[in-house]
Parts: sequence; structure tokens; C-alpha cells
Amino acid sequence: MASTGSKVVILGTGGTIAGTAASATDSIGYRAASLGVEAVVAAVPALQGQALECLQVAQTDSKDMDAAVWQALGRALAQQLARAEVAGVVITHGTDTLEETAYFLHRVLAPRKPVVLTAAMRPATALMADGPQNLLDAVTLARDAAWCGVQAVLGGRVYGPLDLRKRHGWQLDAFGSGDAGLLGLVQDGVPRRFRDLRAAPPHAAAARLLSQDERDWPVVDIVSSHAGARGAVIDALVAAGAMGLVIAGTGNGSLHQALAQAAERARAAGVAVVRASRCLDGGVVGAPAGALPSYGALTPWQARIELMLDLMSGGVPDVVPGAVPDPGLRPR
Ligand code: ASP
Repeated sequence: MASTGSKVVILGTGGTIAGTAASATDSIGYRAASLGVEAVVAAVPALQGQALECLQVAQTDSKDMDAAVWQALGRALAQQLARAEVAGVVITHGTDTLEETAYFLHRVLAPRKPVVLTAAMRPATALMADGPQNLLDAVTLARDAAWCGVQAVLGGRVYGPLDLRKRHGWQLDAFGSGDAGLLGLVQDGVPRRFRDLRAAPPHAAAARLLSQDERDWPVVDIVSSHAGARGAVIDALVAAGAMGLVIAGTGNGSLHQALAQAAERARAAGVAVVRASRCLDGGVVGAPAGALPSYGALTPWQARIELMLDLMSGGVPDVVPGAVPDPGLRPR
């Protein structure tokens, strides 16, 4: 539904933006997900008096993100987006799996109103907390129909759901935007846009994913290729019930031979196996003869979500290597 309203709904899921520490100088030894979303919003004077509604969907450190929270978040978001009076939705989240949730929501809901994820690297109690400004910027974007679709804003930078990458463990400026670059910037409440988010339909299995019990979602695991990699890891995952595997390969998606052999055993046992790249940018381009299929530009974590969805719709990419379309390039 396109927007006619001016209300912004803020869905809280926890994270460092809702974290507290014993001391204002402690930005490492804090507890994430301690404050409710109402308290996080109350700490931003510029948001007081605005048409906002807060809803606590979860209260988690996003390192522990799981299918149950994703499903609850997806359902809550769909409900809020369907309300005519809602212009857009902000989601407060942890930074650790921000990029996974952004991609998940993009593929499952493909919203036509702004859905703006935001987070913080410092807890709410820090001397110079980054959460309040990030939240204010997120509300600014969520009110602006020109910014429809899933995006994330941190430090005044606006990232698309395909391009968001956490690339630093603790610095304030922790995010990157892959090869594609930023969607735009926000400064002093004024958004500046560099490129459009292409409208995309949700994945064909999206509705089933949201309605089906999350305990029945296809089990997809990620394995990394590295020096000394052991095929026994893949064998163990197959024995433990993996239905799909993403192998984060070296460079352009190349696999240690021990993993390549184990991947063939997994495929023979009916497990869908795709490769991705463990490099931060670039994804996988092309497919040498005999190579496993890949989702092109998707990171291993995005590929895991895509494979879950494909498995759910029965369209397992066990086809000609390299023939799996990059969702970023699918016809819209
Ligand atoms: N572990 C925290 C989380 O992802 C880190 C953060 O939010 O920055 O919830």
C-alpha cells in the first residue's frame, strides 16, 4: 500500500542502541537490549511531539537473531505497513546482523513504503551515544515517501538492503556499502539521494515463510573455505539435518578441494549447495566448468536467506552452475 499518512511506527528489537553500561565511558562492556523502545525514543528531544508509535517486537542482542524474531518482525512490519495512516516504519536493531535482517525484510516484504533500520555502535549510556542521531535520521527517512523500500541509516549514511556490510568490529564508522555505494546521506534532517532503490517483488515463497511455523523453515547452514578446511564439517551438517548449505569460498567463490568433495557427497544426499565468496565485496562472477551454482553478488549471509526461500518454494538451484539469477538482477 502506498502511503497517505504521516505516522511513523518504531519497531524495537533490541541491540546496542537499546544497550546500557555502568559507566558513560564504557562502549565495550555494556549490555545490549536493556532499554525498551519507548525509552530509546524518549532520549531524543527532537522526536517528542512527533506522530510516532512504538512497538516492542523483540528484545535481543542481534548476534542471537533467529527465525522466531524474523518471523515476528516480518509479521509486525506487514501489519504496520498495511495501515493507511502509517507513512513508514523504523526498526531499531543491533549492528551485528543488521545486514541480514535488512536483506530478509527486503526479500520477504519488498515494502512500498519506507522501512528504515537503524542501530548504534555505542550504548545509550555512552558519553557520545550515536543512537539518538541515527534514530532521528531514520524517522526523517521513514516520513519521506521518496525513500520507499528497506534501507538502513547510520552516521548519516543511507545503505541499500543488498549493499549494507558491517565491516568493523567496534569503530563508530563501522559500515560499508559494497561495490554499489550509498543510497544517500542525511544531514541536519535533509536527505540527499544518490540513486534509487529498485522496486522488487517479494520472493515467491515470502507469504509462506511468514505464515508457516518458523520451526519448519528449511535449515540452511554456512561453511567457510580456508586453509586446512575439513570436509567432515559438511558431512556433520548433513548428518545434523541441513537441507541447504552455503559455502563461503575464497576469492571468486573457489573451494578447498576437501570441501568440494564433501559438497558433492552432500548433493548426492539431496542437499542443495551453493557457493559464495568470503570476500567482503565482489560476490561471485562466472562459473568455471563443474563449479557449484552461486547467487552472484550475494554475500554468504544473504545467500543463506535466498536459499531458504528457494528451498521453501521448491526451486532448488541445483541447476547448471552459474545459472542461478542474482536477485538484484531479476526482472522487476
Ligand atoms: N551485539 C550488538 C547487537 O548486534 C551489537 C550492536 O548492536 O552494535 O545487538
